[in-house]
Amino acid sequence: MEETLKHLSKPELRTILKIQSAALKAVDSFMYSRGILHLMPVMLSPVTDPLSHGVYDSSIIYLDQKLELTKSMILHKQLVMMSNSIPGVYIVSPNIRLESEECAKTKRHLIEFSQVDIELPKASSREFMDFTEELFSYVFSFVKKECEKELKELGREIKLPKKPLKVFDSSELRKKYGEDFERIISEKEKHPFWITDHYREFYDKEDPKTKKHINYDLVYPEGFGEALSGGEREFEFKVIKRKMLERKTDLSAFAPYLSVAEKGLLKPTAGGGFGVERLVRFLTGKEHIKDVTLFPRVPGEKIVF
Ligand code: AMP
Ligand code: MG
Repeated sequence: MEETLKHLSKPELRTILKIQSAALKAVDSFMYSRGILHLMPVMLSPVTDPLSHGVYDSSIIYLDQKLELTKSMILHKQLVMMSNSIPGVYIVSPNIRLESEECAKTKRHLIEFSQVDIELPKASSREFMDFTEELFSYVFSFVKKECEKELKELGREIKLPKKPLKVFDSSELRKKYGEDFERIISEKEKHPFWITDHYREFYDKEDPKTKKHINYDLVYPEGFGEALSGGEREFEFKVIKRKMLERKTDLSAFAPYLSVAEKGLLKPTAGGGFGVERLVRFLTGKEHIKDVTLFPRVPGEKIVF
């Protein structure tokens, strides 16, 4: 309790919140200028992101229906994109992921966070990466300009990266640095960069010939680690079902989603999402993600408010 009150009364909190407000305003302006539509989040649904790593169960029972608390809005984004008239969507979506206690070590995991989740119709992975690079450049330069005083107070300099950002292939990085490649290269690099081709959830597209995963992570430099994950999406029922079975997914848990896929209604899209708290941590240069959240939810730590 005392620690929480101390945290909430730090004068630095205003500085951090000003930077967060500027960053979110820049995201909204950029999206609006591109005609990308702003959706409200969904918090409860029979289906949510299966995630590619284990988390504690966060389902609830309402009347006689089991509902999941949203882990990400990926499946709902795909459902919205069924409409041919939608030019692209984004949501600032609360995500609940009851991460294991070990995740606290990374200093960038919370059990509740906000994700700016984006999906673009018919986009290729390179098109989505270009879009993201323009979005991040816009956000970085807006914050640099609007929050000059706040950044000075924090002793933080925001560097504007030259586009296109560097792209690394995950298998090459693994060969060079081993399993911990993301941390190692994030510590070496001076600007954000991409790592492509990750094995993960069924919905990220796989090249049928090369078996490479047509997906990407944007990674912050200076050891701040992963910023955004995304990919082109699978939309064909047969492929989705095969990949779910390969991942030992309980098909019955995704019945409504699978029935939409079986009707051939899903469309080719590409998208991705980035955590607001991780972005603010990077912009402010703070060591721990909890330093930039009002009511920290660190894996394994008791929640006070
Ligand atoms: P994912 O699709 O799981 O990679 O999540 C998308 C983005 O959300 C990540 O790239 C992070 O920026 C952010 N994120 C994911 N998990 C967490 C977490 N436990 N705490 C804070 N941010 C997270
Ligand atoms: Mg990720």
